[in-house]
Amino acid sequence: ITPSIGYCRHPGDGDDPAMLLRHADQAMYQAKQQGRNRVVAYREEFGVQASERLALVSQLRDALQAGQFALAFQLQFDQQRRPVGMEALLRWQHPERGLLTPDAFIAVCEDSGLIVPIGRWVLREAARHHRILVAHGWGHLRLAVNVSAAQFQQGLVDDVLAVLQEFQLPAGILELELTESVVMASPDHVIRDMATLRDAGVCIAIDDFGTGYSSLAYLKRLPLHRVKLDRSFVQDLGRDPDDEAICDAIIRMAQRLGLCTTAEGVETDLQWNWLAAHGCEELQGYLFARPAPFEDVLALLDRPGGT
Ligand code: C2E
Ligand code: CA
Ligand code: CA
Repeated sequence: ITPSIGYCRHPGDGDDPAMLLRHADQAMYQAKQQGRNRVVAYREEFGVQASERLALVSQLRDALQAGQFALAFQLQFDQQRRPVGMEALLRWQHPERGLLTPDAFIAVCEDSGLIVPIGRWVLREAARHHRILVAHGWGHLRLAVNVSAAQFQQGLVDDVLAVLQEFQLPAGILELELTESVVMASPDHVIRDMATLRDAGVCIAIDDFGTGYSSLAYLKRLPLHRVKLDRSFVQDLGRDPDDEAICDAIIRMAQRLGLCTTAEGVETDLQWNWLAAHGCEELQGYLFARPAPFEDVLALLDRPGGT
């Protein structure tokens, strides 16, 4: 078990039970924020942070209605630098703070439950672009969408099946990226849903592989297609023999299990060469393409001579 414990003291941190409980709760929230599995004592500034968080939740709730969310797409390539797909990445056009990337708001979406409606929007919005890709002769490109654990508990399978139908997505076009923790959190139920999705032609990738807790025994049982090698391992390829050993081991293991590997965060030729030489099939990173609005990605694809 990895408990998150928050506490406060009487009388210093509050005079009445309601206030004490609220403060202990704010301290517990901090313990979760700091990565769980820890004890945190209440401090006054938590109150400010808690009200900021509440404000953020209410802004996020409005953002969906107000059409402030957008998707950026980042192309993925094969070893020969031919495009094979793209990952949809959520952006928030905040009325005062400008364009925000997910690290500024995704954690709050997750623990407020807002990730469910927002994730549903992302799925539909990404799928909608398939038609446009088809019209430009890029209909074979995969569309990858990140999904959170809460979405699995709240009707993800039905949402995905509806989207496949609505946008007439052929098998193998939609890919869902799940982190290890999503799968390990409620394995049996998730495995059943994943099998349903696979049978409907959806590909499933494990995101940030190697950074969480995985059971290798589960990997074998899961209806997976792909492992995404985390950026933290890719970063030091060609420099750090330990990271090279980890990447090599993950790629080989994936191959033996019949899974594809996509490396994330590829930024240098050195990393690209190393990955290609070690059998990593697909690559994603700033070296090839940055996340960009769909129109820009399309322009890049359509450019004579390609990407
Ligand atoms: P991720 O799934 O690991 O996505 C890849 C992140 O790495 C993206 O950050 C991307 O911009 C960044 N990246 C790509 N190539 C490079 C590179 O070469 N170098 C460096 N330094 N970074 C690179 P972004 O867009 O800020 O997304 C952060 C995370 O937010 C994602 O990590 C994903 O976990 C989450 N996220 C994004 N969109 C969604 C969504 O629609 N739903 C959910 N549940 N999570 C999302
Ligand atoms: Ca991802
Ligand atoms: Ca990732």
